[in-house]
Amino acid sequence: MERENPEPSPEEIDRLYSHLEKEAKQGGYNLNPDGEFVRGLVKGLLVNERRYGYQACPCRLAADDKIADLDIICPCYFRDADVTEFGACYCALYVSKAVLKGEQKLGSIPERRPPQDVRQNYSCSQSHSHSQSHSQSHCHQRRLQSRGPGPGL
Ligand code: SF4
Repeated sequence: MERENPEPSPEEIDRLYSHLEKEAKQGGYNLNPDGEFVRGLVKGLLVNERRYGYQACPCRLAADDKIADLDIICPCYFRDADVTEFGACYCALYVSKAVLKGEQKLGSIPERRPPQDVRQNYSCSQSHSHSQSHSQSHCHQRRLQSRGPGPGL
């Protein structure tokens, strides 16, 4: 559901762009060097934030349900694995050092996010079942908290 005008201003795009650049640098990540391309993705993040209330991945279809979409709130759970394996995240917002230096060419990046029926259970290990006091959202939260620092790519 659209919560307000989804069209972000150039200033908002600049602000988030700078913020992501700073964060990337601090975490050992690299943004795609194509500034216009990145601006398009940053705009998509802002549009999604207005639509859903969180910065869902601009290259994926969000469910408008924060808990269900925790894995695709940028930076998504799949960023590190994709940057390591393919040289870029699914959207190519983040790229590896090799891509940045022109030592690796970017190809298409396959979708690593499991299908919805698998996702319903993947946030919790198979070792326990959910009870009323141990909800699936609790597991999602734990998974989010357990995300480690950047791989220094
Ligand atoms: S694929 Fe890239 S842009 Fe999309 S959520 Fe993951 S890190 Fe962000």
